[in-house]
Amino acid sequence: MISPEEARRYVLKDLRPLAPQEIQLADALGLVTASALHAREPFPRFANSAMDGFAVRANDTTGGAARLAIVDTIFAGDPATTEVGSGQAARIMTGAPIPGGADSVCMREEATVDADGKTVLIGRVVGHGDFVRLVGDDVSVGQELAGAGVEIGPALLGVLASQGISTVSAHPRPRVGVLSTGNELSDSPDDLGIGKIRDSNRPSLLASLAQSRFTPVDLGIAGDTPAEITEALAGAMEGCDAVISTGGVSVGDADFVKTVLADLVGSSARSMQVAIRPGKPFAFAVDPTSGTPFFGLAGNPVSTLVGFELFVRPALRLLAGHAELDRPTTSMILDCPLPRRRDGKLNLVHVIVQMEGDGRFHVKSVSRLGSHLLHAIADANAIALVPDGEGLDTGQDVSVMIIDTERLNGVKWPS
Ligand code: AMP
Ligand code: MG
Repeated sequence: MISPEEARRYVLKDLRPLAPQEIQLADALGLVTASALHAREPFPRFANSAMDGFAVRANDTTGGAARLAIVDTIFAGDPATTEVGSGQAARIMTGAPIPGGADSVCMREEATVDADGKTVLIGRVVGHGDFVRLVGDDVSVGQELAGAGVEIGPALLGVLASQGISTVSAHPRPRVGVLSTGNELSDSPDDLGIGKIRDSNRPSLLASLAQSRFTPVDLGIAGDTPAEITEALAGAMEGCDAVISTGGVSVGDADFVKTVLADLVGSSARSMQVAIRPGKPFAFAVDPTSGTPFFGLAGNPVSTLVGFELFVRPALRLLAGHAELDRPTTSMILDCPLPRRRDGKLNLVHVIVQMEGDGRFHVKSVSRLGSHLLHAIADANAIALVPDGEGLDTGQDVSVMIIDTERLNGVKWPS
């Protein structure tokens, strides 16, 4: 057996981010920039008003109250062609350009328009530059908007759009093929008869890929014959950036994935026994011609998901160019015991975690240990990493990997 750290190092060591492509901004959310991006324009592009109000010359208001002639009304989108002279003001809306001659804005709430609508009483001393958004306040021309290796989030995407940038050089989303292997597997909704089961690994892996913003590719089911597995894998290695199969990596008489792999990719194929439970058998290879990594995960449904989290997802994030490969993992307090037996392995136990009033994440409930019990873990939002030993008691700390940040309960808005 090898440690999970060693298996992980082995997987990651020869992988490199996918070659950058020019990608449309609309498709770029979550991608990682391959080179630095620079501003073409200042932002704001022109001095504009931060408020609905009146554009004035601050010097006109130094006396504390000033009655000014209204010479124009400027809406957002208008060119603002009228010059504001001394003793004059222009009505102005938020986002409208500051007219020539004006240097400040008095908010509407502090101004009173006279009955004839032609003059306005500015009720206070207006500070020079008040409520004016200056050119280049946020971004100046040539400024670096993002370096290489930055994940494109919604705000950065908006910044790029505001610059008129429509494509970015980024590492593409890995296209990841998922193959299920097993003579017992079926996709049929009909009665299956004795011995057959419906495939659950492929749907849950395809969903895991989509949730982590990779592009899932459904490779279907291959029966337990070297020919069928070879056929499915050979094509997939060409067409995908990574390939995952489930089943057939253990020591059973119909476990052919390892031998097929050795035939396909030669000596780079490696079968491991990883000191984890569940998910011990694991095969990995990098296809020497295409450079495509292959992950052979154990077939039990919970093992499959654990293998995905431990080995596949970090590797796919590396391909996608991310510097941070791992799920957030932090120490949490147990609100229930976490029993286990000593077996030389790291136990990976699906749990439900929730933030409590003490500001700490607590492990609220622990799934039954059983690699075939998929429903038992269906509502888990985290995986506890339970070290070898006799287990942990209520009140003890345990390291926990959060796998579903969308379903983290109890994280409250500060009151
Ligand atoms: P294996 O790794 O092929 O020995 O399979 C281990 C266990 O997982 C067996 O009980 C299989 O029937 C089950 N299994 C394998 N593949 C799948 C799948 N795609 N969906 C659901 N169960 C599976
Ligand atoms: Mg099998």
